[in-house]
Amino acid sequence: MRTICFKCLRQIDSCLCKYVPPFDSGVKFVFLMHPKEAKRQRTGTGRIAHAGLIDSEILVGIDFTKNARLCELLADPQYYPVMLYPGEDAWNSQKEGFKAEIGNRKLLAIIIDSTWFCSKKMIRLSTNITALPKLSFSGSYRSIFTFKKEPSEECVSTIETCYYLIKELQQAEIVSKDVNPECLMTAFKEMIKFQLQKENDRIEGKIPNNHATDFKYTKKKEIPTFD
Ligand SMILES: [Zn+2]
Repeated sequence: MRTICFKCLRQIDSCLCKYVPPFDSGVKFVFLMHPKEAKRQRTGTGRIAHAGLIDSEILVGIDFTKNARLCELLADPQYYPVMLYPGEDAWNSQKEGFKAEIGNRKLLAIIIDSTWFCSKKMIRLSTNITALPKLSFSGSYRSIFTFKKEPSEECVSTIETCYYLIKELQQAEIVSKDVNPECLMTAFKEMIKFQLQKENDRIEGKIPNNHATDFKYTKKKEIPTFD
């Protein structure tokens, strides 16, 4: 019988929670997951981010306009809710007036933790989220998750999004300099190493190969050290 970590939904031998001791980032994070993807987070990183970020929640759905918990959060005056999304009209932490706009409220960062394909429908239906102010990055980042196919190289994973956002908010003095988000990146790197190792073990026949015979899966991958 497989034993699964209830937090990151990974098998105990590959559980990544030990790399992310929970810390308070000063931001409330809400991860929106598509029901199809919420149960199989093999390469997803939202659950690992959630394990590390004390004030974070995972909400599962497609149309969030009537999601009771999300509506409750959006109506709560202690929060300044934003949708993490790029765009010309998006805020970024360096934009003048952003800190003043948040004021005494706590930033509530809503992140769609879904593949590009599934997120399209979620965005189309969830007009309460798309009506929110958008927040983007001031810098541009590339994912270190090189083997995950995304429509653009600019697409960073959910856990990297949290990491870079916290770093940028620290620069803008919205998040305290005392917060140390490095464990998010550490856990992400461990996840990549683990997955590449699994792939190599499969190629070498150490574990069953469920993939169709395909040249892509016969070439062993170099496991990065991230030094
Ligand atoms: Zn875990």
